[in-house]
Amino acid sequence: MSGAAGAAVLLLVDAADFAARKHRRQRRKDPEGTPYINHPIGVAQILTQEAGITDVQVLQAALLHDTVEDTDTTPEELERRFGAQVRGLVEEVTDDKTLPKLERKRRQVESAGRSSRGAKLVKLADKLYNLRDLRRCTPVGWSEQRVQEYFEWAAQVVRGLRGTNPQMEAALQQLFEERGIPL
Ligand code: NDP
Ligand code: ZN
Repeated sequence: MSGAAGAAVLLLVDAADFAARKHRRQRRKDPEGTPYINHPIGVAQILTQEAGITDVQVLQAALLHDTVEDTDTTPEELERRFGAQVRGLVEEVTDDKTLPKLERKRRQVESAGRSSRGAKLVKLADKLYNLRDLRRCTPVGWSEQRVQEYFEWAAQVVRGLRGTNPQMEAALQQLFEERGIPL
């Protein structure tokens, strides 16, 4: 393997290991309680296999994207270990958990269009993964109406992310169409 490719592999394995350790006690909301780490790995996999993305910092940010929001990880910790750019990307996709839930959801819609291209890519892959998960099975305690409301909110966010990646946007459009939601 050439030097550059080898260096990329080291960075990606290190980010995957960091995320796995940080999320080790967490589970997804599906009835089986799938290990949480399946999600960030799957988001990175969508970016490489479906969206054709090979930018190492974007892929590191995908693997790490929920560590600040959902674990004790700090932005400073990410910067020390993975650099300022990865830290910045993760911060762009992190909700401010001190805000009420509705306000956090409103901000995601409002900020989508202002995000950097790298953050838009991670946001698109994150939404695609979560919507496919919801289509696969309903989280514990969720009504059909709550699932539909989640799709409607996600469509509002994705409208602000358009013009970033044709493959992911086509896959998302298809998911929304199945639910009767025009993009
Ligand atoms: P949540 O934000 O509570 O849950 C969705 C998030 O959970 C995803 O964005 C994802 O985030 C994570 N997640 C974990 N496991 C799964 C999984 N198996 N499938 C999909 N996502 C998963 O949802 P909302 O509160 O937004 O609920 C949706 C809608 O329902 C809202 O718009 C609201 O109007 C309505 N509603 C909300 C209620 C509430 O108590 N919040 C009650 C009734 C209705 P990540 O990528 O970070 O893992
Ligand atoms: Zn996520």
